Amino acid sequence: MSTTFTLIDPATGLAFQDVPRASLEEVDAAIAAAVVAQRAWAALAPLARADALRSFARIVEEHVEELAQLEVRNSGHPISSARWEASHVAQVLNFYAGAPERLNGQQIPVAGGLDVTFHEPYGVVGIIVPWNFPMTIASWGFAPALAAGNAVVLKPAELTPLTAVRLGELALEAGLPGGLFAVITGSGSVVGERFVSHPDVRKVVFTGSTDVGVEVAAGCARGLKPVTLELGGKSANIVFADGDLEKAAAAAPGAVFDNAGQDCCARSRILVQRSVYDRFLELLEPAVAAWRVGDPSLESTEMGPLISAAHRDTVASFLEGADVAFRGSAPSGDGFWMAPSVVLASPGDRIAREEVFGPVVAVLPFEDEADAIRLANDTIYGLAGSLWTENLGRAVRVARGVKSGVLSVNSHSSVRYWTPFGGMKASGLGRELGPDAAEHFTETKNVFFATDAS
Ligand code: NAD
Repeated sequence: MSTTFTLIDPATGLAFQDVPRASLEEVDAAIAAAVVAQRAWAALAPLARADALRSFARIVEEHVEELAQLEVRNSGHPISSARWEASHVAQVLNFYAGAPERLNGQQIPVAGGLDVTFHEPYGVVGIIVPWNFPMTIASWGFAPALAAGNAVVLKPAELTPLTAVRLGELALEAGLPGGLFAVITGSGSVVGERFVSHPDVRKVVFTGSTDVGVEVAAGCARGLKPVTLELGGKSANIVFADGDLEKAAAAAPGAVFDNAGQDCCARSRILVQRSVYDRFLELLEPAVAAWRVGDPSLESTEMGPLISAAHRDTVASFLEGADVAFRGSAPSGDGFWMAPSVVLASPGDRIAREEVFGPVVAVLPFEDEADAIRLANDTIYGLAGSLWTENLGRAVRVARGVKSGVLSVNSHSSVRYWTPFGGMKASGLGRELGPDAAEHFTETKNVFFATDAS
């Protein structure tokens, strides 16, 4: 196997940089260094860990533009999205910098003594991330894991390692101890699998496809180590006749075509109540036509290219034989471009069931509230979803009825670092972000101190 891999700019199709492919020995050396660094890190005063994470946040904030430009080049993200992503990393670090001083245990009444609990760090945490949001998803793991007193070994996706590598350098510049946060580039079958099999990696966080996630979970089961899984999605955007149709149609392109649809939370099924189905499509067509696909370095661009030629072929295969109602536009140059597509679908269709992970949305009609919930749940996935209605009771009933981890009423928001995020069913296991994330990187220890004099 080659010792490097080559990165390709998705907007031009041109190779621009080689990146090292770590060997098994190099992964083991990084894990051994992390074991040592973690002991010293966990022994620091909570305030010292908090200060170190705040310094890391500050230095990321100072490098937002550099990180954003790297993401434009490596991932084809529009510059405005990439700036948001880099700032988000700083915000996540700042938020979890508050955690070391808030990892409160309990005092439990036990006769004859004092009983208290401690949140002990696992030790070394292995974090494996996908290519679609390289910086943000990594930070959801490493910030709370470090805050809780762990060391982190992070494996970025082969296609998009550059911002993660830079974050590793910035951590050192910010004064985090060497070895505490190691970014290791390489293949899933070497680096990722070693995180799963190595006895000194005591927890794994995996974000990626459901198929690989199942393998990772099976490997973690063999090593009896906890695992958090953030996997695929086929989220529904449910539009009721009593919803604000203009608003729902205007917001729908952003909900599925953001990041060229390469978003685990993409609302890739629009379920529309039959009585307003035609009207909704009339409103959706100009909104899709207005969606700006193009050069990711321009501030006005809303959607860049797909990540690779191979991925574009996979996405295109979903359109073969599909009933395409209308399409947006895309540049015709050498990059991995694809125009957004709106497809009319029926519940059994492949496009209505499988994750496309591209700028394709399936529109399906439904009859009534019960039918909407049934259709929304007619998928193996359960990550996100939206619903549009002005009826409060219906909003509550449907939000409770849809089996997804993250739902939004009359909006499409899914990710806020201070609220929990994660999927049900085949979309995942466990939750990231929110007020409890640092605690998820600890195990509870109970200690009883006898106080009897004799
Ligand atoms: P992928 O599963 O192919 O790869 C994800 C990561 O796992 C990569 O770093 C890869 O190198 C590594 N990997 C591959 N094989 C491995 C193995 N055997 N052991 C350990 N690690 C291994 O996924 P992808 O194509 O990079 O990303 C797309 C998928 O990620 C989509 O299905 C998407 O829905 C999902 N995703 C989910 C979320 C979420 O939060 N739920 C977020 C983003 C992406």
